[in-house]
Amino acid sequence: MRISEKIRSAAAEAEKRAAGQFEHIERVAQINTEKVLDAFHLNRVSESMFVSTTGYGYNDLGRDTLDKIFALVTGMPSALVRSGFVNGTHAITCALFSAVGAGDTLLSLTGAPYDTLRSVVGAGRDEFGSFRTYGINYRQIELLPDGTPDYESIAAQAADKSVKAVFIQRSGGYTGRGVLSVETINRMIDTVKSVSPDTAVIVDNCYGEFVETEEPRADIIAGSLIKNMGGGLAPTGGYVAGSEELVKNASYRLTVPGTGGEVGASLGINRSLYQGLFMAPHTVAQALKTAVFAACLAEELGYAAFPSGSEERHDIIQTLQLGSPEKLMRFCRGIQAGSPVDSFVTPEAWDMPGYEDQVIMAAGTFIQGASIELSCDGPMKPPYRAYLQGGLSYESGKLGIMAAFDSMLQ
Ligand SMILES: *Cc1c(COP(=O)(O)O)cnc(C)c1O
Repeated sequence: MRISEKIRSAAAEAEKRAAGQFEHIERVAQINTEKVLDAFHLNRVSESMFVSTTGYGYNDLGRDTLDKIFALVTGMPSALVRSGFVNGTHAITCALFSAVGAGDTLLSLTGAPYDTLRSVVGAGRDEFGSFRTYGINYRQIELLPDGTPDYESIAAQAADKSVKAVFIQRSGGYTGRGVLSVETINRMIDTVKSVSPDTAVIVDNCYGEFVETEEPRADIIAGSLIKNMGGGLAPTGGYVAGSEELVKNASYRLTVPGTGGEVGASLGINRSLYQGLFMAPHTVAQALKTAVFAACLAEELGYAAFPSGSEERHDIIQTLQLGSPEKLMRFCRGIQAGSPVDSFVTPEAWDMPGYEDQVIMAAGTFIQGASIELSCDGPMKPPYRAYLQGGLSYESGKLGIMAAFDSMLQ
């Protein structure tokens, strides 16, 4: 790869500064890998679980055992892992509908949900099948200006008897707000339960899995398999994990009330899902190391990074403030040029549906849209921030970041 000497020597400095963080990341990966292996051993994972089912998919031993393994790994009583979840939004939607019905209110504790969930709760465009169709109410509490939860409002509003469930988004997504640690989320949950023990807590767990050694103590969590939990190998799918009742309810929303998770042919992807989960703690560590390296290199070159190179991580997203539209565009083009797939493609900013400003995206991934693979996007508006995440191996992630800065500074 053609990367300048300036970038190569700045990268060497950045890597030195990142060493302390890398040690922490590797410790977490070690603990999570042991957790995954324990769950594999307890469930006697064998070759027979990798065979394919077709048709209705009754008695799919591999599929049903993987549910049990996900439950153990996430510390939940039950889980549902399915290729039938078309993306994270779909899994989270099933989790939302698992806990609220007509006349109930869902209260978000972290402001507006992720863009693609707004048409589900009826905030923004109102589509058929959204909350409003079913007479479910939605309201939200904003985070405080410093990005921390508004515990006072949470306690006051969760006490309202019509609030049947609360929603927490763990990652900041692309809003620029900070990410919440598992400790903070658990404190929010305790606040809700102390005033209303029966209120269900639903967590959008996207981008947070395996970054810490525990997942949030929610009633149900949900996420995507083309992010952290698929380890870069799952070709598609999502998961929910939580109480027996809520997971069953979510399965009824995914397929058919009364049938739920007992159907759904696995069509030969079980092996990839198992191997993906086996790899996931390691893959998440690779993505985290790539993010820390990106922050350290940015700072080395005089650009602001959120979180900074020395801050502890709670998700895999790294924000870099690049300061001009040209720099953002050249950075994204460099990420693309450093990717293993479609490296010859030139990303352009475009009017993406659902976004106010033009967005530029870079992703040269093996699996379409997989953001556990090195990828980057940036809204074309001040302060021209690049949001990047992923990296299947630290080595390739590091080279991708170096290629991006090289392209930017040319
Ligand atoms: C990725 C993500 C989702 C779901 O997005 P999909 O593209 O549907 O998988 C939801 N919430 C957050 C915070 C996310 O990062």
